Amino acid sequence: MGLVGYLSFKNGEKAVQNLAAQLINRTSSGVDRHLDSYLTIPHQINQINADAVRMGLLDTRDRETVGKYFWHQMQAYDMSYIGLDFATGGGAGATSYDGKTVTIDHSEIKTPSLEKNLTTYSTDNYGNRTKILATGTWDNLNEISYTEPVKAGKPIWTRIYTYYDPAYPPYIVASAGRPVYDINKKLLGVVGVDIHLLKLSEFLRTLDVSHYGQVFIMERDGMLVANSSQEQPFTIVNNEIKRLKATESFNPVVQGIAKQFQQSIPDLNSITNTQKLDIKYQGKKYYVHVTPWRDPYGLNWLVITSVRESTFMAQIDANTQTTILLCFAALVVAIGGGILTSRWIISPILRLNQASQAIAAGDLEQKINKSNIQEFNILARSFNQMAEQLRESFTALEQNNIELEKRVEERTAQLQQAKEVAEIANRTKSEFLANMNHELRTPLNGILGYAQILEHDRATTPKQMKGLGVIHQCGSHLLTLINDILDLSKLEVQKMELYPQDFHLENFLSSTVDMCRIKAEQKGVDFRYQPASNLPVAVHADDKRLRQVLLNLLSNAIKFTDVGSVSFRVESAGKSSEFGAAQRIRFKIKDTGIGIVSEKLSTIFLPFEQAGKGDRNSEGTGLGLAIGQQIILKMGSEIQVESVLGEGSTFWFEVDLLLALDWMREDAIADRKIIGYQGKRLKILVIDDRTENRLVIINMLEPLGFQVTEAENGQAGLDVAVQMLPDLIITDIHMPIMDGLEMTRCLRQLPDFATAPIIASPATLSQVDIKKSLDAGCNSFFPKPIEFTELLNLLQQHLELQWIYEEMEPDVIQITDSKSHEVSMVMPPAEELAALYTAAEGGFISDIHREADRLKQLAPEYIVFANRVLELSQNFDEEAIIRLIEPLL
Ligand code: ADP
Repeated sequence: MGLVGYLSFKNGEKAVQNLAAQLINRTSSGVDRHLDSYLTIPHQINQINADAVRMGLLDTRDRETVGKYFWHQMQAYDMSYIGLDFATGGGAGATSYDGKTVTIDHSEIKTPSLEKNLTTYSTDNYGNRTKILATGTWDNLNEISYTEPVKAGKPIWTRIYTYYDPAYPPYIVASAGRPVYDINKKLLGVVGVDIHLLKLSEFLRTLDVSHYGQVFIMERDGMLVANSSQEQPFTIVNNEIKRLKATESFNPVVQGIAKQFQQSIPDLNSITNTQKLDIKYQGKKYYVHVTPWRDPYGLNWLVITSVRESTFMAQIDANTQTTILLCFAALVVAIGGGILTSRWIISPILRLNQASQAIAAGDLEQKINKSNIQEFNILARSFNQMAEQLRESFTALEQNNIELEKRVEERTAQLQQAKEVAEIANRTKSEFLANMNHELRTPLNGILGYAQILEHDRATTPKQMKGLGVIHQCGSHLLTLINDILDLSKLEVQKMELYPQDFHLENFLSSTVDMCRIKAEQKGVDFRYQPASNLPVAVHADDKRLRQVLLNLLSNAIKFTDVGSVSFRVESAGKSSEFGAAQRIRFKIKDTGIGIVSEKLSTIFLPFEQAGKGDRNSEGTGLGLAIGQQIILKMGSEIQVESVLGEGSTFWFEVDLLLALDWMREDAIADRKIIGYQGKRLKILVIDDRTENRLVIINMLEPLGFQVTEAENGQAGLDVAVQMLPDLIITDIHMPIMDGLEMTRCLRQLPDFATAPIIASPATLSQVDIKKSLDAGCNSFFPKPIEFTELLNLLQQHLELQWIYEEMEPDVIQITDSKSHEVSMVMPPAEELAALYTAAEGGFISDIHREADRLKQLAPEYIVFANRVLELSQNFDEEAIIRLIEPLL
């Protein structure tokens, strides 16, 4: 409706504009026509009169008749003046000053004697002069109404002429003049007609347009000629008529329009054809046409026709208001209707909505009632059906659920059972592995321990020494196998753990290298160990695992190389990118051996994978690289390999090793053989349920001068410890009656044992055990099988021992260690040596041995002496023994 209203408004506006344009056009042309016809009359009259004069029809000598003639003409034409000025001077004419009565003017030739040459007569109804009304002076030959037509030599408009006499209405006329010539072109005079311009204004006022606009005529200089408004186009100042410009008009609309259009067209002379303007004045719009009007006699005017838009638009505007009101009414009705309709439709939908929400919330007992909307009823029926089906499905589902739950419960129970079985199996497996580990390590502890003890025994002959070497080597190999299998089972359950500790890198590397060098030399393979000079002194890492990896890589390299060389390069690969106080170390093992086929390169790191063929493989298990790779992965890196078949292989890896900055110990125990220690005899208590384990330690330590006491379980250990107050305790963890940890806890309660060093030494190696032992109060953790040198290191650490080394040949001493202290041989007192002397004299070797051992037990400082005695007796050099002790006796 709004749109229709708008369109009809626009159409109306357009129609009005057309109509206005037409009206203006018509009005302008009406004005044109009127001006044409009205303003030709004076010239026609002049022509008639001129012809009458020239043809002699009018006797110019009879001025009275001439005046009467003009009087009659005045009756016929609505003019203000019709007359004749003679070339000889003087003239005659009829005038209507008030527009009603006609008077006759008669003027003689002006002479000095005749000052008042003009006489005005009133007339009767026949044009006869009745009486003199006024006399005056009129110098017609010098008036422009005469001079200008003569000058032009043709009919012209002379000027717009004004004359004011308060007795009469204002006289404002346009004067038409025409010179009259005889046949000889001699000027006879000038005929003239004045036409009153107020008549033009009156005409304009009669036009229709003047009711809803303004029409006015003006000269090109802007002077108003006539207008349709009630206000006159002139004003009277000091008894004189003053013409007004259109812009000064007393009619505000005329003035406003004139000003506005003069603003848009400042030069009025430039207007040659009709101009159409839309002018806004006082908030109202006017359609304005400016049309030029000319005549052949010199008039050049502008006719301005203006129409107020609102005159036409008023009705349309009123209509528009009505339309807007109707629109609003329609809107209100539509909204009301809409609300009512939507309520009518929505209320059943709301019911449906509530019902579906209830269903969604689980309340399936929903039914929708009928309403008076047919479409909704269809929907309601479907909904009810759906709800019904849902109820049925839910019931079925619930039953299914119950059944399913039952089945799940059954299955869960079965699974639980299976899980328990599996767990038991797994536990059994773990227990088995732990037991195996324990069981295998214990005898190995005996084997390896005694091999080491015997290796250190001076009485061992070189041949036995060789045999012991074989036992030691086989035992070690067996230990490696056990460790590998254990590692693998740990790998499978992802339980491989690292036990980092501080260690001296250079010593670590050189001892590792030493283990392999001999094998290489035996095979005739050149072995090159190239440690870089900028390696850190000590690092914090799991040295055993690192050694395991390096040994595997090195022994593989040696194993798979027959000619050429194996090189082992260790260098710094810069600062660690992850840890601050750490260094990245690159280990690179390169050989010139058989190489590996490229398709096998990726599989050799898998367990039980062996790339080569033949007898070489029989030496290995195919586990080494798999375990090594896992270890290095644990250390945050990876073993890489490059190999060319037939040319050789390179294995390398880089690991970030934390720097052990507070590394104080110099290399604890040099290569030299320890035979005792300085200071008082120290008491050591060994607690282990296995006799062989106890014996290993006793036999390792007693020859060095320690007083070792044993106990077979925690309880016994506790008792012995309280009695003897040992300086250090070495205890197994798992024992009957009371285990080592319990015993440690009890000991720590006693003031004597608050700080005494206790070393836990189980036959198993696990992080849990380490933690448990340290928590229970142990100072160190030292798993079996016992490694002799490491045990000594540990003792030195806890007891702050000063070792006494076996004296070596001077040159050997120089080569191996120039720094080591010269050990002076302390001789026992004479009374302790008597028995030894007797035995030596008698040549009783076993007595000599017994005495030497007794002396060792007596005080550690005699160990050097006792060992010297043993050495001499092994060479059956009793003479030398006697020479050694004789000076003291
Ligand atoms: P193994 O106990 O058999 O040595 P490893 O896991 O240490 O087990 O090695 C797996 C396989 O990788 C070896 O059997 C061998 O075929 C190959 N391999 C390892 N290192 C070398 C090497 N340096 N040169 C050639 N082959 C090698």
